[in-house]
Amino acid sequence: MGKVLIIGAGGVGTVVAHKVAQNPDVFTEIMIASRTKSKCDAVVKAIGNPNIKTAQVDADNVDELVALFNSFKPEIVINVALPYQDLTIMEACLQSGVNYLDTANYEPKDVAHFEYSWQWAYKKRFEDAGLTAILGCGFDPGVSGIYTAYAAKHHFDEIQYLDIVDCNAGNHHKAFATNFNPEINIREITQNGRYYENGEWVTTKPLEIHKDLTYPNIGPRDSYLLYHEELESLVKNFPTIKRARFWMTFGQEYLTHLRVIQNIGMARIDEVEYNGMKIVPLQFLKAVLPNPQDLGENYEGETSIGCRIRGLKDGKERTYYVYNNCSHQEAYKETGMQGVSYTTGVPAMIGAMMFLKGLWKKPGVWNVEEFNPDPFMEQLNKQGLPWHEIIDGDLEV
Ligand code: NDP
Repeated sequence: MGKVLIIGAGGVGTVVAHKVAQNPDVFTEIMIASRTKSKCDAVVKAIGNPNIKTAQVDADNVDELVALFNSFKPEIVINVALPYQDLTIMEACLQSGVNYLDTANYEPKDVAHFEYSWQWAYKKRFEDAGLTAILGCGFDPGVSGIYTAYAAKHHFDEIQYLDIVDCNAGNHHKAFATNFNPEINIREITQNGRYYENGEWVTTKPLEIHKDLTYPNIGPRDSYLLYHEELESLVKNFPTIKRARFWMTFGQEYLTHLRVIQNIGMARIDEVEYNGMKIVPLQFLKAVLPNPQDLGENYEGETSIGCRIRGLKDGKERTYYVYNNCSHQEAYKETGMQGVSYTTGVPAMIGAMMFLKGLWKKPGVWNVEEFNPDPFMEQLNKQGLPWHEIIDGDLEV
């Protein structure tokens, strides 16, 4: 059905490549390109399909990307490099007539700032070119928005309160490690918290608000209010929402390490002089922390991510909880990666599948909740991320 180019061969890229290769009826030709070609070759070896092509590319360089796109001629690019590369890849897509999908919004390298405006600004250009760009198609953002769209379509006349709850109850047996790229992860968590209430954004200190939330098959876990990028598009696309928040669980050991990292300046993202050269402390820290891709083998337990929603249906109050639990070990057995990479990579593959099947094809730049959620929800059940729903149960948030 279509040619796909995956950019990035990290934890998420590895899962995307496995899942794309498992669906040969949709993805007829596959290429993986990244900064380090040997990593792409290693992924192909692990999958055991020698037909998958690999290439080296610096995704910060538009000309290099355009040259690669023009030679391979993919129909869609799945961008699972880092958020810093979103705009260069979108630009190259426009220059080469290629459709686009990513899992995280653009961030400038020198300031940790999360908003869609930079990417939404490409809307007219994608429209005029007749190309589709699908933004934020991992789990959160991604499935969190699709769950919300599905709830709005089938269970509510009006969504009023939305809480996205993200629990990782896994244990990787390391004193401290992040589950995806440490630089991106630590930038996100050390920011101020933010949530939406009655038409306004309320800012909190980092990790200031927290409470025990109970997760299915896991139990209670201390959950912290964070700002997460999908809140911005969801309150825009579902204007009846009165309050939208995002919660993520952290263990005390993790938070103690994070506090020390910040207190000693290792979370800094500005350049410092070291032995006559300039280094960014957080990038140096990434080099000495465990590689998230190596956590899978000893990872036990599971993740549980879902949406807890309150609103109105037929004039009555309704509650709705839709979620997926994902086992780190099962993810590792299937792809060699842990659950956090798995829960991101599977939806990215499904998003590209939706595009190639013509179900999510519309010129412009879109967040996932702006497409029909039904065929995507159906694929989640088939591709390893089954979901469960509780209608009108007690909703704790
Ligand atoms: P990794 O750091 O493991 O992998 C990133 C990959 O991108 C590496 O292969 C890296 O190459 C490559 N890369 C980085 N810079 C460039 C460049 N300039 N040119 C070409 N390739 C480059 O990250 P993850 O796999 O953990 O995360 C991938 C993406 O997924 C991130 O954007 C992250 O924010 C997002 N994500 C989204 C989630 C969601 O639910 N929506 C959850 C988790 C992650 P090299 O190895 O050579 O450095």
